[in-house]
Amino acid sequence: GAGMALTLAACGGEGAGGSGGAGGGGEAEDLTIGVSMPTQTSERWIADGDNVKEQLEGEGYTVDLQYANNDIPTQSQQVDQMITEGADILVIAAIDGTALSGQLENAASNNIPVIAYDRLIRDSENVDFYVTFDNFQVGVAQGNALLTGLGLQNEDGSPGTATGPFNIELFAGSLDDNNAFFFWDGAMSVLQPLIDDGTLVVKSGQTGIEQAAILRWEQETAQRRMEDLLTSSYNDGTRVDGVLSPYDGISRGVITALQNAGYGPALDAANPMAVVTGQDAEIGSVKLIADGVQSSTIFKDTRLLAEQAVAAASAFAEGGEPEANDTETYDNGVKVVPSYLLPVETVFADDIQSVLVDSGYWTAEEVASGQ
Ligand code: BGC
Repeated sequence: GAGMALTLAACGGEGAGGSGGAGGGGEAEDLTIGVSMPTQTSERWIADGDNVKEQLEGEGYTVDLQYANNDIPTQSQQVDQMITEGADILVIAAIDGTALSGQLENAASNNIPVIAYDRLIRDSENVDFYVTFDNFQVGVAQGNALLTGLGLQNEDGSPGTATGPFNIELFAGSLDDNNAFFFWDGAMSVLQPLIDDGTLVVKSGQTGIEQAAILRWEQETAQRRMEDLLTSSYNDGTRVDGVLSPYDGISRGVITALQNAGYGPALDAANPMAVVTGQDAEIGSVKLIADGVQSSTIFKDTRLLAEQAVAAASAFAEGGEPEANDTETYDNGVKVVPSYLLPVETVFADDIQSVLVDSGYWTAEEVASGQ
C-alpha cells in the first residue's frame, strides 16, 4: 500500500520534482526490479520477459529477470533470492498462483511492492496490484470463435448458415492458474446454452473443468488427452467437429492428434480438420491459421501488458499507487486486488495481416515460415 511505497520513495532520494524519465538523476537508477516469469517453453512468456526488461531498463531501472522452467520450487527460490539481493519491487507471473504466499510475506516485511503479472497470485494479502488482460472476455472470445468456425454464427455475432448439431470437445488450462477458470467460465457462458439445447454435443461427456484441464498447459498432455478422446468416443466413425482450446500450445497438441487420426490437413479438406480455437497468437499457430489448419487464436499484445507493468512499477517507485481500471473482479481469496485489464482481439486467417502484421507483432516473413 501507500505506506510501503512512501518508504521506497524516501530511499530513492526526495525532492528534485522530476520523475524517473529522461535520465535526470531520478530515483529509478537506484532501484532494482525483480521480474519472475514462469517458463521459456512458451514464446509469449519470452516476449513478456523481454518487453518488461527492455521497457524498465528504458526508464532507468535495474532489472533482475528470471525464468523458472515451470518448476514451482525454482520460482520460489528465484523470488526469495531477488528479495535477498535487494529487489525494490517485484513483478511476478506465477506458475502456481497459490504457491508463493511465503515469498510474498517475505516481500511485504521488506516493504517490497508486488505486482502480479498476467496471472493472479492467490491466498495472499501481499499482492499490491495486478496487470492482465480481460480474462473472462478471452474465454467469451474463444467460445464465439468456436461458433464462428463451425458456421453457427458470423464474426459480428449474427446467426450463421450452419445449424448443427456439432460434436465438440472441451479443453481447459492448468488448474493452478487462476486464469484457467476465467477462460473456462467465459467460454462456457457462450457454449453452455448451445450444449443445453443440443446444438453442441460433447460426445465424451467430459464437460467439467477438472476433466478438461491440462496441467501446466502442456502440448504433449493435450495431444494425449485428444488421442484418448478419439479412441473412447469417436471410434464408431463419428467426427469431432470442434475443439475449444484455451492456448495455442494445447491447440497444436490437439491438431497433431487429429492429424494422426486422419483429419485434415486443413479445414477445407475432404475429411476436414476440426475447428480448433487458441490463445496468444504464437507464431507456429499463426502459420497454422494462415494455412487453414487452426481456426483461430486470441491475440494478447504483450507489449501493452509490459507497458502496464512498467507504469505500475513506476507508480510504486514514485510513492504513488498505480491506476486501476477494475477494482471488483479479482478476488484472490484474501482480498480483491486492484487491477488493470487490457482488451483482446480474435484472429482468424483474414485478420492476420491487419491485427498481427500491421501492428508489427509478427512480420509477414515470420507468418510465412512459422518461426
Ligand atoms: C495466460 C495465457 C497463456 C497460458 C499458458 C495463462 O496464464 O494468460 O495467455 O496461454 O497462461 O501459458
